Amino acid sequence: MRQFEFRALPWNVVFGTGALQRLPQVLDGLGLKRALVVATPEQAEAAAQVAGLLGTRAAGVFPRAVMHVPVETVAEALQVARECGADSSVSIGGGSTTGLGKALRLRAGLPHVAIPTTYAGSEMTNVWGMTEGGEKRTGRDVKVVPVAVIYDPELTLSLPPRIAGPSGMNALAHAVCNVCSYTDNPLVYLMALEAVRVLMTGLPRVVSAPDDIDARAESLYGACLAGATFGSGGTNLHYRLCHTIGGTFNMPHAETHAILLPHTVAYNAAAVPGPMARLAEAMGGRDPVTALHELLHVVSPATSLAQIGLAQADLDRAAAMTVAAKFPNPAPIGEPAVRALLDDAWHGRAPRRSP
Ligand code: NAD
Repeated sequence: MRQFEFRALPWNVVFGTGALQRLPQVLDGLGLKRALVVATPEQAEAAAQVAGLLGTRAAGVFPRAVMHVPVETVAEALQVARECGADSSVSIGGGSTTGLGKALRLRAGLPHVAIPTTYAGSEMTNVWGMTEGGEKRTGRDVKVVPVAVIYDPELTLSLPPRIAGPSGMNALAHAVCNVCSYTDNPLVYLMALEAVRVLMTGLPRVVSAPDDIDARAESLYGACLAGATFGSGGTNLHYRLCHTIGGTFNMPHAETHAILLPHTVAYNAAAVPGPMARLAEAMGGRDPVTALHELLHVVSPATSLAQIGLAQADLDRAAAMTVAAKFPNPAPIGEPAVRALLDDAWHGRAPRRSP
C-alpha cells in the first residue's frame, strides 16, 4: 500500500522569458506599494533597472547584499527600509541576495518578492540563514517563503559558466538528496526526478553555449523544482558536510555542493537501491554516481576541495564536526568513512561506494 507524507509550501511562481516585466502587476496583486530593491554590489545595475521598472512602487535600492547574510547587513538594510518607508522587499540575484530578502521578512515582517538569477533554489525553500560573530545559523520557517517568485531566464544570460555550472549542481544536490532521503514519496519524486532530468541535460548546454536561452530556461526550471523539493523535504549527510565546510571553513557554497555531491551519493547508494534506480532512469540509464562525477568535470572549474582552498589539515576536524551533529541519513554515519569521503573529495578522486 502507498504511504507517504508531504507538506507543501505556499509557492507563487511566475516563470517565463520576459517575466520580469510582470513585476509591477505582481506587487499590485499582492497589495504592495513601496518595495526596497536589494542586490549585491555586482548586480547594482540590475537592481537599478528593477527600480526603474517599478517607478513609484520602488521605495529605494540597497545594493550591498553579501554572501552568508551577516546580521550587520540585515540591520543596515532594515534601517534603509525604515527610512524610505518600504512595505516589502524585492531581491534580484543569487542565494545570497534571496537570503537577505528572507532575513528582512524574518526580522521585520517585510513581504519578499524574489527574482532569482542563479540556480541556488533558495527562493522555493523555507530555510533561512544568517551569520553572526562568524557563525552561520540556519532554520526553517514557512514565513520566509517569498510571497512571489519571478523566474526570467533572460536574467541568467549574464551568469558566467564558471558560476552557472557549480550553481546548477547546487540545485541538483537539492533534487538528488531528496530522492535519496525518502524510501518512496511520489510527490517528491515528481518534482525531484524532473529536476534531475532537466539539469543533467541543461547544465552542460549552459556551460558550452552560454547564450542558449533554451538551455538557460531549462536549468532555471530545474532549479525551481529542485528548490521546491528541498523546501518540502529534509537534509542528510550531504547538507551536513556542506554546512560544516561552507560555514566553519568559509568555502564557497555552490562549489562545495558540486564537489561533494558525487561522493555523498556514493556513500548512500547501497542503502537506497530503489531511489538510485529512479535516479538512474532520470539520468538516461546511467549510473548516478558516475554520471554526477562526470558532470562535475564538465561544468565546474573546481573538482576537488583542495582546489577551492580547503586545507588538508582541516579534514579531521571537518569529519569530527559532521559526525558529532545528529542528522538523519540512509546509510550509517561513521567517522572513518566520512573522513575517507572527505579525503577523496579533497584529492578529487573518483567517489568510493559504501559496501
Ligand atoms: P551568490 O548569490 O553569492 O552569487 C554569486 C555571485 O554571482 C554574486 O557576486 C552575484 O552577484 C553574482 N550573480 C548572481 N546572478 C548573476 C547573474 N545573473 N549575472 C551575473 N552575476 C550574477 O551565490 P549562490 O550560489 O546563488 O548563493 C549562495 C548562497 O545562497 C549561500 O549563502 C547559501 O547558503 C545560500 N543558499 C540558501 C538556500 C536556502 O534554501 N536557504 C539554498 C541554496 C543556497
